[in-house]
Amino acid sequence: MKAQIKLGRIFGVEIGLHYSWLLIALLITFSLAGTFHKNNPGWSDELRWGLAIVTAILFFASIVVHELSHALVAKLRGLPVRSITLFALGGIAQIEKEAADAKTEFWMGIIGPITSFVIGAICLAITIALGWTPPEFPQRPLPAMLMWLGLINIGLAAFNMIPGFPLDGGRVLRGIIWWITGNAKRATTIAARVGQVIAFAMIVYGVFQFFRGAGINGLWMAFIGWFLLSASRESYAQMVISEGLRGLLVGDVMSRDFPVVDSYTNLQTFVEENLTRTGQRFWVVTLNGQPEGIITPNEIGAVPRNRWPYTTVADVMRPLDATRTVNPNTPVTEALEVMAQQDLNQLPVVSEGGLAGLISRSHILQLIQTRAQLHL
Ligand SMILES: [Zn+2]
Repeated sequence: MKAQIKLGRIFGVEIGLHYSWLLIALLITFSLAGTFHKNNPGWSDELRWGLAIVTAILFFASIVVHELSHALVAKLRGLPVRSITLFALGGIAQIEKEAADAKTEFWMGIIGPITSFVIGAICLAITIALGWTPPEFPQRPLPAMLMWLGLINIGLAAFNMIPGFPLDGGRVLRGIIWWITGNAKRATTIAARVGQVIAFAMIVYGVFQFFRGAGINGLWMAFIGWFLLSASRESYAQMVISEGLRGLLVGDVMSRDFPVVDSYTNLQTFVEENLTRTGQRFWVVTLNGQPEGIITPNEIGAVPRNRWPYTTVADVMRPLDATRTVNPNTPVTEALEVMAQQDLNQLPVVSEGGLAGLISRSHILQLIQTRAQLHL
């Protein structure tokens, strides 16, 4: 989920919107304007629409605060947080690493619902202080807005505590099982299963309600269930990968034989004799046998074709000292993060100033498959 509209940074965390958010923002504003009209028909159109827009904005601000609370706990526990993105079904804090221990997982999960609950409770307390007597709908704009914000935030806290991945409750459940059993793998499996059962039950119940005449509410529930089901599968797969790679170092899995090309070779020859014949995309450029840089089809694509015979690979290569590298003692998970951040498929492995090998995404993927097949 990548943000398409960037809003700015808070505590060094980038806040952004996904396009799907616009749809839900419109829906919420319209439904709020309708609710205000139904309960206070005396309000002017300007008042109810203005209030609906302000309320919707504050609602999304409270989702950002919820996500920021996850981000802050992650940061305090040493996990880097890249961004927070709002989309149709809420917010996501993109945390670049998985929790390394059960307590971190537990606190990172539970802080979100706690934050939403506190925001909700404060809103409701102010509404009551302003003279609201539940359950009637407040007649004045400010209490009407605060009451809605209070109820929706408490609802949000409750929904997020559903113990299924990738909801906060799923993390909390995983943290607790991990804490008790000391087994992260087992905790992941159990939390993912529970999440899938709940998501499946939501789909069945939603469809059932729809056919009993609940209309759009039934379908909405089934849709959220379906979303949870696919999201839980995805986050489960991701976690299995990072657990499968735990403890592995780059030096254990790098390939030591990599294709080399002499730095004086011109691009025409290189493309015809090497690149298109071997299928290798990542070449090490050497001068007198010493690695100087790397070259991939990306660098060649930037040179016009008629210049290929007059350009050497050394002219366009990425020099080794200007390239992001890892060393044999780097954890494989970290190398994968670097590749993801820089949008690369391979990284040179450098040891004691020299090139020791290469590590590639496809190679790591094969490794995971092999290990999974043998239940390692
Ligand atoms: Zn959350």
